[in-house]
Amino acid sequence: MFSSQFDPSQRAQAVSTLATDDFDVLIIGGGVTGVGAALDAATRGLKVALVESQDFASGTSSRSSKLIHGGLRYLEQYDFKLVREALHERELLVSTLAPHLVKPVGFLYPLYEKVRERTYVGAGLALYDALRGFQRSLPGHKHMSQKTVSEIAPSLRLDLVTGAVKYFDAQVDDARHTMMIARTAARHGAVIATHMKCESLIKNGKRVTGAKVRDAQTGKLISVNAKATVMCAGIWSDELHAQFGLKPGYNVAMSKGVHIILPGSAIHSNSGIILKTEISVLFLIPWGNQWLVGTTDTPYTSNPNTPQATREDIDYILEQANKVLQPKLKAEDIIGAYAGLRPLVANKKDSLTTKLSREHTVDRSAPGFVSVAGGKYTTYRIMGKDVIDLAGIELRRIIPESITEKVPVVGADGYFALVQQTNFIAEKSGLSAATITHLLNRYGSLINEVLEVIEDNPKLSKALDKDLPYLKAEIYYAASHEGAQSVDDVMSRRTRISFEAPNHGIELAESIAAIIAPVLGWSVKERKDSVRAYLEIAELETSSLGISMSSV
Ligand SMILES: Cc1cc2nc3c(=O)[nH]c(=O)nc-3n(C[C@H](O)[C@H](O)[C@H](O)COP(=O)(O)OP(=O)(O)OC[C@H]3O[C@@H](n4cnc5c(N)ncnc54)[C@H](O)[C@@H]3O)c2cc1C
Repeated sequence: MFSSQFDPSQRAQAVSTLATDDFDVLIIGGGVTGVGAALDAATRGLKVALVESQDFASGTSSRSSKLIHGGLRYLEQYDFKLVREALHERELLVSTLAPHLVKPVGFLYPLYEKVRERTYVGAGLALYDALRGFQRSLPGHKHMSQKTVSEIAPSLRLDLVTGAVKYFDAQVDDARHTMMIARTAARHGAVIATHMKCESLIKNGKRVTGAKVRDAQTGKLISVNAKATVMCAGIWSDELHAQFGLKPGYNVAMSKGVHIILPGSAIHSNSGIILKTEISVLFLIPWGNQWLVGTTDTPYTSNPNTPQATREDIDYILEQANKVLQPKLKAEDIIGAYAGLRPLVANKKDSLTTKLSREHTVDRSAPGFVSVAGGKYTTYRIMGKDVIDLAGIELRRIIPESITEKVPVVGADGYFALVQQTNFIAEKSGLSAATITHLLNRYGSLINEVLEVIEDNPKLSKALDKDLPYLKAEIYYAASHEGAQSVDDVMSRRTRISFEAPNHGIELAESIAAIIAPVLGWSVKERKDSVRAYLEIAELETSSLGISMSSV
């Protein structure tokens, strides 16, 4: 009945509906929490709108470690409730909700001592496995000798590492997953528009009855009427509460986390690796044929819109990894880097951010206005459920229970069968089996839509670049179906070229603009402006690093 396609005509329709209709719920923020709340509300039969000031996942939700995990380190903080809840979500995502996007990933936990440490870590991982409950799509933990470690991960220093315990978690392309949840919410009737910024609230006495939102494309201010306004603004929560003249029961502290990307050849290991550091942990995560290594955890108080990786961050990551790696990682091997800001819910202003709970808070700071913040990417579904439960009170009628445990993300339906048919699809489409696997892991059963783009224009079956896995058709599809409205949307979030290609992939910006221009109806000037805007972002990020990266 409803479409999950985000293209310029859908956006125009959504903007006009925002202005004319009355909604049960208006959601502010299109990170994973906001789109999760939109899906939760829509599938309870509520009339839902969502506005996002920039692009889906343009805040923290595109800059995480990309792990769907229980969080081993929360076990050490005795936060069993959070771990159990997150492991339940991990299971749901891998098996049912988004198996095309969320994949198992193994980690070695190296040991440096023979008996005591193995007992301690083994007991911790046994508890981690036990907290999974009875449904178990991922393998349990396994003890490994030094010899096995040397075979699996030759890069680990055997003069230090005496053995390891291997365990499993899951990983996801966070920005893609967030956008796919938004598409799923639209598929269930949510009216969604990006590049729409909420500027103020509409009030009737003390009651909030909606919000005024500015369309970045036309500059027009639109009034959106809703019985409940739900803010899911992550690190922007404090700023918006102040702007709206509301006093919430919590504050959001920011903590910066940086990751670097290295070529596959930089680390010899068939498994991810987790290293304990003095303040937290460092992950070495396989990412396609590259490595994602991070993260840092430092308090942050500057502009939330422009977190950047600095030379200091990079040095810290290299230093921690190089304690156990041989050969050592070098700064000049780094292909890319990104920084994100954790939204940490704080009750006391002076708390140390690393010590704060990762759990979320829901709050009602005015009649008709509720918010949620904190949490983890992994627990977005629960955050969405909790905040819509609270918003339901504003509707003054009984609303159905949340059913998102049973609502797969678009593309999940039929995915496992399509995987079995990979060779058949390859033969029929003329693409290689490896390309079909790549497409299934990004689109699931929506692969048909990408193949249709190729049928209409066979030239788009070609790779965008010989060193990247993306087809030109995927770039086109990003604008025709996935709501990309700029070169940055495509390079930073629909694909991850911005950190996967050397030099932020700037030499590809022109060809990407040329592919999406006809879909977006751009003039020559608009096309140039979008390329220039991306180059400015890339320049800012490169200059903050103060190092020359691989092929820069
Ligand atoms: C370095 C790092 C690593 C992490 N790793 C993991 C991990 O591996 N696993 C995990 O589970 N979690 C992880 N997290 C945590 C996780 O990424 C966050 O908890 C989650 O992404 C927060 O999502 P959100 O939707 O609440 O916030 P955001 O994604 O920041 O979304 C808020 C949105 O609100 C929008 N907005 C702001 N103001 C307005 C306005 N006026 N009008 C309209 N929209 C507005 C913003 O543009 C933004 O898109 C990590 C976080 C960091 C920083």
